[in-house]
Amino acid sequence: MSSNNQKEIFLTYPAKRDVLFVLGAGTSHPDGVPLQRDILPLIMNGSVEEIPDSEIGKEVIEFVNENFEFDEANNYPRLEAVFGFLDYFILQNESLSAKYSNEKLRKIKEYLIKLLHFIVDYRTEKKSKYYRLFWESIAEFNPNISIVTLNYDTLLEQAFDFLFEKFGYIDYAINFMNYEKNEKLKPFNFWIDPRKPLSVKANLHPVAIKILKLHGSLNWKYCNCCNQTLLTPWDRKIDLNKGKFLGYTYPDNIEYEYSCPIDGTDFETLIMPPSYYKELTHSVILPLMAEAGKEIRASKRIVVIGYSLSDADIHIKALFQKHISSSQELIVINRKNTPQIKLRYSSITRKVKFYEKTFQETVTDKYFMKKLLSV
Ligand SMILES: [Zn+2]
Repeated sequence: MSSNNQKEIFLTYPAKRDVLFVLGAGTSHPDGVPLQRDILPLIMNGSVEEIPDSEIGKEVIEFVNENFEFDEANNYPRLEAVFGFLDYFILQNESLSAKYSNEKLRKIKEYLIKLLHFIVDYRTEKKSKYYRLFWESIAEFNPNISIVTLNYDTLLEQAFDFLFEKFGYIDYAINFMNYEKNEKLKPFNFWIDPRKPLSVKANLHPVAIKILKLHGSLNWKYCNCCNQTLLTPWDRKIDLNKGKFLGYTYPDNIEYEYSCPIDGTDFETLIMPPSYYKELTHSVILPLMAEAGKEIRASKRIVVIGYSLSDADIHIKALFQKHISSSQELIVINRKNTPQIKLRYSSITRKVKFYEKTFQETVTDKYFMKKLLSV
């Protein structure tokens, strides 16, 4: 239906993307999201009070203490080594001991994922001024971009809200149960599906921007009964005693526990933890990997920011190596590009340029952003 000042439109994508941004931990770290190497120490050293006081925290701390040594200098094992160890038993369907049965190890893995979720979310209440600057440059210089992010946090999306409707819509490229008009889904946030016809004001020309979160997201909740995902844009809290996701009613702000509105099942986290030994078979993540492959092929320029392409991310190296062509330009921006980082990216393509800049320096330098966005 359209009236005089409304029109119905379909958002479409141009055949080619000018720039594909690939964002890593270095882009959320300025706003307080810890780096991967700091996460296990934060869980173990008691500096986040809620963790050792909770059921979930106690079990995970005991497991790590009993199976990994670390010294006074706090040389903790790497998070991907702990997950890799758990994944070995889970994928082989073996137990570690009478105490750590296969079933128990699966539970500890889910607990460790929940702690990871809790820590990443710990300091992300404020809106990010750096992501805001990032979006401002995109809106001003060139909206024909896509984003692949390896971050779980939602700071990038939270910073988009000033552009919503008049400039554009976020396309996560997955199907959420909130898109359906179902009575049972009424209490949840309604979310606009940018792949369906939209009714917009006649003077607006919005775009859709893909944000592909290849390692999942704190605001996605997965039901393994109906195999659907609920998007809870503003709710990311987790209860470390019962392991349940918490939501808050509007406007009374009363806390409640989330369960699937269709079948009552408890939701699972939808974040892919780092691991040396993992299978990437999740039904939500697999199509995202394929979509990211298409975006790599469609892009004239790929700009990586704050991402070291670590050895636990072989699947990302594989993704690039499969889809990048020799004519595509790869730009890598890191605070420090160590020789190892340079070799990792040079093995993907010869046509790579390195810049030593932090994310804050990148987005506050408007001239540089304009250059990155001019293809
Ligand atoms: Zn369900």
